[in-house]
Amino acid sequence: MAQNKPPGAYAGPSFALLELLGLLLDGSSALVGLKDLDGYYVYANRELESLWGLPAGGIAGLSDAELMSDAVAAQLRTRDREVAESGRPARSFDRFVVADKELECATVRFAYPGDDGRILGTGFVAIDIREHQPWSNAPGGSALASAQRTIADLTRAVEDLKLRATTDRLTGALNRGRLEENAQFELLRFERYGHPVAMLFIDVDYFKRVNDEHGHPAGDRVLGAVADVLRQCMRTTDLLGRWGGEEFVLLLPNTGLTSARLLAERIRATIEAHDFGEVGRITASFGVAECQKGESLETLVGRADAAMYRAKKAGRNRVDIDLFNPGKEGTADHVAARFVHLVWHDAYASGDARIDLQHRALFELANSLITAVIEGRPKEEISPLVQALLDEVVSHFGSEVAILRKLGYPGAEEHAAIHGQLLARGVALAEKFERDQLGIGELFSFLAYDVVAQHMLAEDRKFFPYLPNRR
Ligand code: GH3
Ligand code: MG
Ligand code: MG
Repeated sequence: MAQNKPPGAYAGPSFALLELLGLLLDGSSALVGLKDLDGYYVYANRELESLWGLPAGGIAGLSDAELMSDAVAAQLRTRDREVAESGRPARSFDRFVVADKELECATVRFAYPGDDGRILGTGFVAIDIREHQPWSNAPGGSALASAQRTIADLTRAVEDLKLRATTDRLTGALNRGRLEENAQFELLRFERYGHPVAMLFIDVDYFKRVNDEHGHPAGDRVLGAVADVLRQCMRTTDLLGRWGGEEFVLLLPNTGLTSARLLAERIRATIEAHDFGEVGRITASFGVAECQKGESLETLVGRADAAMYRAKKAGRNRVDIDLFNPGKEGTADHVAARFVHLVWHDAYASGDARIDLQHRALFELANSLITAVIEGRPKEEISPLVQALLDEVVSHFGSEVAILRKLGYPGAEEHAAIHGQLLARGVALAEKFERDQLGIGELFSFLAYDVVAQHMLAEDRKFFPYLPNRR
């Protein structure tokens, strides 16, 4: 029947609903029809069409005037108009003759709106009470009440169908298609108004084993329980979708990378601590990304997924975040702009195992400091972290310069001088911090940005080509 619809006349969610209603009622004796505001049919269920001897879809474009006597058509037209104008459903009791057959119909008429809420036309569900044995002796009023109950039941059934088409049955999360739809909307809001949007990509660790050891139904229950944990941790405005088998996506409107990472960390810890009954303990790995200007949903998911994959590779049960714009990987400027948490990338490897080990240790110490600062930890907890980071910097700077000198790297002395300046400044700032003359923000920014991120990612790269074993 789709090809018979006049284009654009009855778009809108309620139409789809009513169409389904008609389909559900097909095969029953109920007659379902929809007309536009001018009285032309846009839809009828099979029951109504066959009453007029019309083929499927044949009713579209016809009006009651072409189907029945002028008097009845005029009466029905008046009723349709009243409903369209008032917007309220109305009951009536209609008698008419179709192909020598007399019908007595209990009818409910209603107006149906389009997406923008404007009334697009009227619809009706009519039940021939003469045909309908159980109701045939009942007074018209009770037949109408039954018809209305039928409509209410069917509307609920249709709503239920709609819901089932958008949510994943096992977990109650949005299915992938629906999540994508909603995500597009959030991305649009981000483009237009700049509200940040972040995404968590979540994959259950070693889930295959759960199935293998406890059976597929137990695996299903775990997925449902994981979704419950996710729902407990998220805000009502966050969107939870099931991306694939044991993969979930959480879309976080109005959330930047920092809060998204903290949420991921909180969920990770909650899952780790949760008792999954028959299956015991499980863990999950998380990738976090924040939407960039002009970015598509596809690349956002790709970055969150890639971060999740790094979390898997790093040992699972952890959170990794995507720090960089595509194509800008490794530039110190960008680290400063987007900096939240340092994530080790293979591209940072110098090729010298000792230097890389020390660099990674510095990353970890800087991350502990960052986490403590973001979480607003008291000074007593932050001071030892600052000291540990400074100690590690001192020992690393010493060993790095020794390696560079041994290599005969021409910039070794210059590099040592830079180390000296950074260290002197770091020590001075730490002392000021201890004496409460400096906020943690500045100290943190110097240690984490200037020393660990900028120096290691920019200055150190100059000597990488001189190292043996460079890949
Ligand atoms: P990793 O830590 O690397 O993610 O390991 P994994 O075992 O979780 O990952 P892998 O992708 O190898 O296996 C995923 C498993 O999830 C395989 C598949 O049988 C199972 N799975 C996917 N969908 C469902 C589902 O709806 N129910 C159940 N019970 N299992 C599912
Ligand atoms: Mg997987
Ligand atoms: Mg998995």
